[in-house]
Amino acid sequence: MAYPLFVFDFDHSLCHQNDVDRQFLAAFVPLDIQNTLRTKYLSWNSFINASYQYAFSQGVTKNQIISNLLATCAIDDEIIATIRMVMERGAEVIILSNGNQMMIEQVLSNMQLEVTDVLTNPSYFRDDGCLVLSKYHLEPHGCDRCPDNLCKSRALIDYGHLGPIMYVGDGIGDGCPIINFLGRRGDRRDDVGDIALIRSGFDLDKHLQNNPADYSRIKANIIYWEGPQDICEQMQQFVQNFATS
Ligand SMILES: [Mg+2]
Ligand SMILES: [Zn+2]
Repeated sequence: MAYPLFVFDFDHSLCHQNDVDRQFLAAFVPLDIQNTLRTKYLSWNSFINASYQYAFSQGVTKNQIISNLLATCAIDDEIIATIRMVMERGAEVIILSNGNQMMIEQVLSNMQLEVTDVLTNPSYFRDDGCLVLSKYHLEPHGCDRCPDNLCKSRALIDYGHLGPIMYVGDGIGDGCPIINFLGRRGDRRDDVGDIALIRSGFDLDKHLQNNPADYSRIKANIIYWEGPQDICEQMQQFVQNFATS
């Protein structure tokens, strides 16, 4: 099956103006507490989980967390329309994020956007109202580039899509699949037509400029994006090249 797959990072990519972790921290965890927790919890995932517990201990409620989230995280209308269009034409669209499930699903449902799948760290409200974050990978994933809770290459290998992929990302975590996975599936090495849409001026762009060895490993076509319109144009073209209907 050659139908295309669109993979979206969430923070600062699909949700191009914000970040589900940082909007939470900014609203509910004072900077000095963030600094203390950051020295105590070394991985970002465990730091965020500890931040949820701190907010709960201060009386922050589920409603406050969700209201703040929906007030600060939105998805551009043009991207929503384009995602619906490519899915109608037979493409799959997944979100692959190091954020968390509850927040991403709340934003999607608020925007009335359905995608094929959301691959991210599980999270849920406990009966007492405390938000709890888990890890996407519970077993070691074997990639030394990525944090223990999520390697986006591993997640995409497990997802098992064989057709062309367009990957939209901005961050260092998106570097792993863009450098190590795109353009390398099965025996169709090099000619699967994968495209990496990298956000101009953000962390991954800077990393690749400073690390030419990583840059030269990329087998996908690289296109830089600045705003939702750039993403939509590339999506339209990509689906036109590959769509089944
Ligand atoms: Mg991001
Ligand atoms: Zn990795």
